[in-house]
Amino acid sequence: MRSPTAGGPVRGGLRSIRRVPTRPAGPRSGPDACPGALRLHDAADGALARVRLPGGRIAAGQLAALAALAARFGDGNLELTSRGNAQLRGLSADAAEPLAAALSAAGLLPSRTHELVRNIVASPLADLPVRELDAALRADPGLAALPGRFLFALDGGSGDTLALRADLTALPDGEILLAGHRCGLPGGDPLANLLAAAHDFLDERTAQGGTAWRLSELDNGPAAIAARAGGRGVPVMVPAPTVAPPVGVLPGALGVLVPLGRLTQDQAAALLGTRAPAFTITPWRGIVVPGQPATAPLAAAGLVLDASSPWAGVTACAGLPGCAKSRADVRSDAAANLPAPGPRPVHWIGCDRGCGSPSGEFTRVLATGGGYEISRGGRILAENAPAAAVREIR
Ligand code: SF4
Repeated sequence: MRSPTAGGPVRGGLRSIRRVPTRPAGPRSGPDACPGALRLHDAADGALARVRLPGGRIAAGQLAALAALAARFGDGNLELTSRGNAQLRGLSADAAEPLAAALSAAGLLPSRTHELVRNIVASPLADLPVRELDAALRADPGLAALPGRFLFALDGGSGDTLALRADLTALPDGEILLAGHRCGLPGGDPLANLLAAAHDFLDERTAQGGTAWRLSELDNGPAAIAARAGGRGVPVMVPAPTVAPPVGVLPGALGVLVPLGRLTQDQAAALLGTRAPAFTITPWRGIVVPGQPATAPLAAAGLVLDASSPWAGVTACAGLPGCAKSRADVRSDAAANLPAPGPRPVHWIGCDRGCGSPSGEFTRVLATGGGYEISRGGRILAENAPAAAVREIR
């Protein structure tokens, strides 16, 4: 079979002739329904809880507690998200209250009012004031009104968070980027600037009808917020540099990838066996372990330590049987059809909603019911292709 990237047919004989439809422009019809530790999502395989981990930072005792809760109430696995959070799924109907109590006891639910807005990503290898930002956010009553999708980023200077297109990104000198745009905002204290910009977002959101979930959904969002914050000049999008996810031996640390972002009990035990006091879950479904732990037990548990592994960059939504909207068991198909290592992420999804899609350009593999639609950058490369076609298309 010829590679579809070369323009040849896969099945259905289509080339790059259509574009993937995007979400229609216009205001949101209601508040976001992002799941949390208290607001569980009712999925086909049971309830789902999302535990916010600001900056992906998690103490060893907290990882042990989460793994134990997944085993006790859920399907036993911890799902890592594209924002470095952790999800428990397959929860029983009566798990909500004991789960919340156990999360509180482990320090994983420090606020009931702000738990949905503690959305903070941070450069995983940098020493950044994640805890301070989290504490300041929780101490600000007005910011409990932020939408659950609103995202803060602390960038350590490498630009590795820029591709995540956070609503507000603090650079090391305290300058704030608005939805990835440089707007001439003054530097200074990054935390104070972030909180002030978040309030500006809420004020502008109210002025524009109160429906936007993200800064980019406001009319002229970056310019409107910049005008409130004293910015100068025209907003300019800052290109995101290509930064490799931290995998393998790193300065003073070891990076591992978790295949398809689902951390098993054995893998959690192997991580805890390193005796590291804390870990950092990355937005690339990986985990940074401080120090230089022995690699053999981690590899034996199925964690990936090689950035050139076929698992690198391959992600998938829940799919069947976890999500009733899915048209296929995308996780099984993804695992059975790993592509050759390549420069772009590959993301498998069971429906057009596209949960967990990576930022930047990636290969999108959408279940259609009759196979898979494969696209990249909005261009459809193949329709109703067999799952195995992905092996050739990265
Ligand atoms: S992309 Fe669709 S099938 Fe996949 S988890 Fe989201 S809603 Fe479910």
